[in-house]
Amino acid sequence: MKSVVTNEYKELQESMIDRQQELKTWLKGKTNVHLSSPLIDRKKPIVKQISLAWVPAELYIESAGSLSAVLKRKRPDLAKQLDTLLDQLDADTALSFIEESLTYSQRFFRQWASEHNVSPWLAEFIAEQSLRPFLYLLADGSKNLLDSFELQGLCPCCAEPVRLAALDSDGEKTFLCPRCEAAWKLEAPACIHCGENRSEQLVSLDVETGDETEIEVCQTCSQYVKLIRISEAPAENAVRYDLETLHLDYTAQDAGYGEKLEF
Ligand SMILES: [Zn+2]
Ligand SMILES: [Zn+2]
Repeated sequence: MKSVVTNEYKELQESMIDRQQELKTWLKGKTNVHLSSPLIDRKKPIVKQISLAWVPAELYIESAGSLSAVLKRKRPDLAKQLDTLLDQLDADTALSFIEESLTYSQRFFRQWASEHNVSPWLAEFIAEQSLRPFLYLLADGSKNLLDSFELQGLCPCCAEPVRLAALDSDGEKTFLCPRCEAAWKLEAPACIHCGENRSEQLVSLDVETGDETEIEVCQTCSQYVKLIRISEAPAENAVRYDLETLHLDYTAQDAGYGEKLEF
């Protein structure tokens, strides 16, 4: 697949992803996600329905320390700022970081960063990346519930906007979330964003994307999904597939589909 990200950025991402997988394994058994199927509201992402107690502050702080160490090795220029950030990351701050990452609050991180002499993007990046291993556990714990959700355009687990699906040889789609690694299917074929079920409204964008990928657009709501034709598409690779196909997001947006994403 063609890629628009630099090798340096890719290497950094790869190291972060590897460490996040290790952290997920380390966290298993340390924190438990209890989901009671009958009590789950199928019209709301799971992350909005459970108490924040599933991300204990002390474990989140360890996750932040571990990922900052990876980042420091690749980007020594950030070491001082990362030390400042980790120094400030007490239990109360950790809880704010968790909460504000879950609601994508850039305003909070801008404010916090300016008060602590840290770049806003870095505070937001560490806050979000440190949460990912917990989100992986949440997706694992809710695996059997996700297919029955009736949400439009959002990951049923973590509420990330949908943009990626794997297509098997029978044409069946498995939606993949690059943020929490959830994988789910729709009960009947339809647009994941608006529910449109007239198949003629869902078309493949007529652009050169290579054999392995395709951009499916909905003519009713003007949203898109990147499809990857991979027979075995483990959800753990969703973030890698997403990075590898970043150019397709630009292509779809240039053609007038989707919302403008900020990278
Ligand atoms: Zn998700
Ligand atoms: Zn649609």
